[in-house]
Amino acid sequence: MSGRHLRTLEDLGDLSGKRVLVRCDFNVPLEGGKITDDLRIRAALPTIEELRKAGASLLLCSHLGRPKGKPDPRFSVRPVGSRVGELLGTEVVTCGAVTGGEVRQCRDRLQPGDVMLLENLRFDPREEANDPGFAEELASLADAFVDDAFGAAHRAHASVVAVAKLLPAAAGRLMQQEVEVLTRLRDSAAKPFVAILGGAKVSDKLAAIDALIERVDALLIGGAMAFSFLAAAGGEVGRSLVERERFDDVRAAVRKADERGVVIQLPEDVVAAPEPSADASRRTVPAREIPRDLTGLDIGPRSVEEFARTIADAATIFWNGPMGVFELEPFSAGTRGVATAVSAAPGYSVVGGGDSLAALRKFDLVGGVDHLSTGGGASLEFLEGKELPGVAVLMEDVR
Ligand code: ADP
Ligand code: MG
Repeated sequence: MSGRHLRTLEDLGDLSGKRVLVRCDFNVPLEGGKITDDLRIRAALPTIEELRKAGASLLLCSHLGRPKGKPDPRFSVRPVGSRVGELLGTEVVTCGAVTGGEVRQCRDRLQPGDVMLLENLRFDPREEANDPGFAEELASLADAFVDDAFGAAHRAHASVVAVAKLLPAAAGRLMQQEVEVLTRLRDSAAKPFVAILGGAKVSDKLAAIDALIERVDALLIGGAMAFSFLAAAGGEVGRSLVERERFDDVRAAVRKADERGVVIQLPEDVVAAPEPSADASRRTVPAREIPRDLTGLDIGPRSVEEFARTIADAATIFWNGPMGVFELEPFSAGTRGVATAVSAAPGYSVVGGGDSLAALRKFDLVGGVDHLSTGGGASLEFLEGKELPGVAVLMEDVR
């Protein structure tokens, strides 16, 4: 068989007594130093456990938030280290530095099966610059490199790309699973294939929309981006969020869908209010006739019903982006309805995107979904057919 192969843990051989640098995506939401959702940490556990069982000692590393290249205690990964330790039932030392003598000292104390965590990679400006010197410093700490940070795979950063060229490198189990599932979705999804897109900005997702039209049978559009579709076709959307400068792109996407026989389903009704606040008075109004002084903040009950019908008939489902401002209870029913339909559907379901996963967790519907993609931007770019730098560097040609 010839083609390209994603290197996995098997390709690293015997890791007993070896030190392994493991790039994780521990970019979890924090409030006042407390982790509010540890889904990303839990998702990294299978790889960590497997490497510990194999007798390796682990140097975990991740970015967290946007500290802009300098140490900032608000973005310390210490709370992450504590949580990883709790979940593993072992002590995880968070070293107060990213590279240098302090890190080497921590590392030298590691026994097989031990786990330590480097400080936030983005405390060093060389991380986001994909700096080769920084990658050398990271690589010098370990004998092998494992990348399990699918959520960062679309970024050409030092701990994602440059370091993978300096050590025997492979994908962790989470990265491997993400690539396998999304490759199937991109290249050979069972039909009917239905994609549901929402969220705030249509401009963020136009490339994904364009690529998905070539693959899906139906595209359901909710969230604020629906208003650009409705308004570009002449609908009255009141004060809802629209991106006028994208109307031409939106119309082009609609034309392309028409030509290919792909159904674009837009909301029929929306829940609107004068402003997005929990105590605003709200009304359900027709999506194409929103009163001038109101903003559309969720899809309405009829839309949920119609979206749910399409979702129930799908063999494959991909969902990214909430249907409304689900963070506010009065505007959460649309997202809850779609989340319920996705999790109840018999088709194979994949959900990606930080806010979409947060919605699933909030409504306690995680269990019904077949694959939770930890990477929002990364999963969309992957489905677009783009080569992700963090994945490409782990591939090898096989003959
Ligand atoms: P994800 O993180 O799942 O990829 P996005 O980040 O694209 O999703 O979008 C999520 C945000 O979109 C949420 O904060 C939500 O409040 C917002 N949103 C959804 N619908 C609307 C709307 N009608 N008006 C304003 N904001 C919206
Ligand atoms: Mg988001």
